[in-house]
Amino acid sequence: MHVRHYLTAVALVCALGGLGLAGYIFDRYGATAVSDKLYESELRQQLEVMRFFDHVKRVFITTDLLFGSLETYMIDPVRSQAESAQSMRGDVFDLLRPDQTQEREHLEISQKAIRALIGEIELLEEAAWSPDFTSSYEQLDRVDAITAELRDGVTALAVLAGARVQLAQANRNTEKERLNQAVWVAAALYVGVALLVLIWASRAVSTPLADLTANAQEALADRSKFRPVPSGPVEIRELAKHIGVFVDSLESEISQTQAVFNAIQDTLMVVDRHKGIEYFKPESPQPAGFDEKGFSNKQAIEMIGDDQLDTVRGEILACLDEQELRQFEVTLKHADSSLSYEARATAGSENQAILLLRNLTEKRQAEKRIAHLAYHDGLTGLLNRAALMQRIDQQMTTNPAQPFALFFLDADRFKTVNDIYGHDTGDQILQHIASALDNNVRSSDGVGRPVSFREGARQVPARLGGDEFMLLALGLCDEAETAIVVERLFAAIEAPIVVNNKQIYPSVSIGVAFYPEHGVDLDQLVNHADQAMFEAKRNGGGFSFYNSELGESNRRKLTIETKLRQAITNEDLFLMYQPKLDLASGDIVGAEALVRWRDGDAIVPPDEFIPIAESSGLILPLGELVMRQAAGQMYDWKQRGLDLNHVAVNVAASQFKEGDFPAIVTGILGEFGLLHNRLNIEITESSIIDDFDRTTDQLRQLREMGCLIAMDDFGTGFSSLSYLTQLPLDVLKIDRAFVNNLVGDAQAQSIVQAIVQLSHALGLKVVAEGIEELEQAKILQQMGCEEAQGYLYSAPLVADKFEHFVWPAVRHDAGRLGA
Ligand code: C2E
Ligand code: CA
Ligand code: CA
Repeated sequence: MHVRHYLTAVALVCALGGLGLAGYIFDRYGATAVSDKLYESELRQQLEVMRFFDHVKRVFITTDLLFGSLETYMIDPVRSQAESAQSMRGDVFDLLRPDQTQEREHLEISQKAIRALIGEIELLEEAAWSPDFTSSYEQLDRVDAITAELRDGVTALAVLAGARVQLAQANRNTEKERLNQAVWVAAALYVGVALLVLIWASRAVSTPLADLTANAQEALADRSKFRPVPSGPVEIRELAKHIGVFVDSLESEISQTQAVFNAIQDTLMVVDRHKGIEYFKPESPQPAGFDEKGFSNKQAIEMIGDDQLDTVRGEILACLDEQELRQFEVTLKHADSSLSYEARATAGSENQAILLLRNLTEKRQAEKRIAHLAYHDGLTGLLNRAALMQRIDQQMTTNPAQPFALFFLDADRFKTVNDIYGHDTGDQILQHIASALDNNVRSSDGVGRPVSFREGARQVPARLGGDEFMLLALGLCDEAETAIVVERLFAAIEAPIVVNNKQIYPSVSIGVAFYPEHGVDLDQLVNHADQAMFEAKRNGGGFSFYNSELGESNRRKLTIETKLRQAITNEDLFLMYQPKLDLASGDIVGAEALVRWRDGDAIVPPDEFIPIAESSGLILPLGELVMRQAAGQMYDWKQRGLDLNHVAVNVAASQFKEGDFPAIVTGILGEFGLLHNRLNIEITESSIIDDFDRTTDQLRQLREMGCLIAMDDFGTGFSSLSYLTQLPLDVLKIDRAFVNNLVGDAQAQSIVQAIVQLSHALGLKVVAEGIEELEQAKILQQMGCEEAQGYLYSAPLVADKFEHFVWPAVRHDAGRLGA
């Protein structure tokens, strides 16, 4: 049933009941009216009867007088009186209802009596006209009898009328009373039934409604499922269904929200504009000092504390009023702990804000760490390059008049040490240098704590990266004083250290530039200190002050580099060939290709441009050019039947570092159809040491293909005999310096003898270079040295001169390379 059905039922019952009762009352009312009418007619009848009765009484009197006196003038009035009585009797008769038989009988008697009376009066009149008119006793008796009869009849009539009136009155009263009663009963009945129906209808509607409310409340209160309303009007059951769906979706939303809340690691609060904190969840996991089972909302307020409450409240109200995100910081205090948080307030609704508090402790620590990392070197703890540059820059801007010295330190042979002893050792050496710098700072300052971290320190050390360090010394501007500082640094740094049971002697080269003397620009000053250090290195270590001539040599370096670049593209480079001989037979067995640069009329020697080519990267195209020219020359000679066992090409360290050197070599040899065994590769110790693994790997590849590998300039560099065993070598070239001193120097001879013996033990062929005297050649031959190279035989020669030298019997003008 629908609610409207219930309402219709109520309306219908009320209307029908009302109608029924109205009918009933109307009926009652009709009955009252009838009794009223009857009463009125009885009254009227009684009135007529009484008039008749009164009149009859007057008739009696006059009749009595007439008949007593026999006055004839009275005859007519009495007769007309009697006739009136007759007519009145007629009036009464007319009022009678058919059922009034008694009245009719009495009226009948009265009529007869009146008629008889009139008859007697007429008799009297007749008699009056006779002369012997006298009274007749007989007539008197008759008249008496008639009047008596009339009186009885009329009296009975009056009594009857009175009784009837009384009856009608009583009847009327009864009816009135019954009407009253009926109205009361009807009203009570109507109200009662209407009430019953109303109660029934409202219960039919309100009970399911109440159930619905209760079920919804229950479902929301204890998170159970919403129970539908089993009975009731269709609308309410429909409504219940919808509310059920809504409540359930709300439920799942609430549990989702709860899940989200639980998943949030930050501290979370829900704050109501009016009610304050409604929900509080501490961060998870809880930080030390905050670990409790659960926090009450009151505790949460205490954690915020009185001093911050107004600020927090202000932020939340602003968030709610503007409906926008607010961010601020807040400190939560609990027990003895106090932690700072970043708070983000978002408006969840008009009156509810959600407050997320993120613990900043870790962030702050990370920031500190990052700040430290940003300005410090991880390995040594010294300032890093950026920090020092900032410090110097700041010094120059805030105190431009104060002079200072800038030390540039670079560890010597650091790469070598790193490669041979490993990175751990390298790191320890760097740490050693760092602490030496730091100690120097401390001893000059007299304070036990590293000053590099303090503002206003007089000396600030830093590590620039790799094996480079810097020291900023404020107020230092005198060379003599600076030299003392440098000596102290050397003494500290070059003290031997023991790493992994090995004693190591670290050493550095130091360059010094002064502010403002050597530059007022940061980059320039640093660059000049660097140049001074480089100069010190070039001079074999130690230290050097910057001077402008250094700048001069650098500029020269730069112009050479630019010109060399052009020379490579213009092929202004050419090769000279120096013959290599078999010491025993004197036969020419090969040639070493040596590069030259034709710069206008001048010929630039390789010692001047090879280092620049190496440092600028130009060595790669240059190396390829040399390799191709040498291979092309071999091909040309071979084509013309001039057979040479091999050509030796010098290869610089950096040629192994970039690209695939063996592939380049193979490609070039392939271009001229040459086998690998036609090529000797000359390397120096330093080129191997720079990147030992990679270089040896590439050499091994080349050797497997057939190339012979020669160790050039042996004895000049980082000479380690045991080191030779690890290298893929075929030839060892003894440096000119040994050969130079050979004659008359027993010690030099014994060293060379040892080298030769060791080489043979390792299966290496020995070549001596720079032989200028026959005596030298003899001694070397006796020692077992296989091959020789030197001015004694020939200086390096251009290709066609070399041809004439090697193959003097051949005609040389035919089909030369490039002709
Ligand atoms: P190196 O490999 O030791 O070459 C031998 C050097 O000694 C050559 O100097 C040669 O002219 C010189 N020499 C030969 N016999 C004698 C002698 O009896 N007495 C004296 N005093 N010197 C002699 P050069 O040609 O000036 O070459 C110098 C260095 O330049 C070479 O030393 C080599 O290391 C480098 N070099 C030359 N050409 C190239 C090249 O194409 N590539 C690379 N990477 N380096 C090259
Ligand atoms: Ca060489
Ligand atoms: Ca050499």
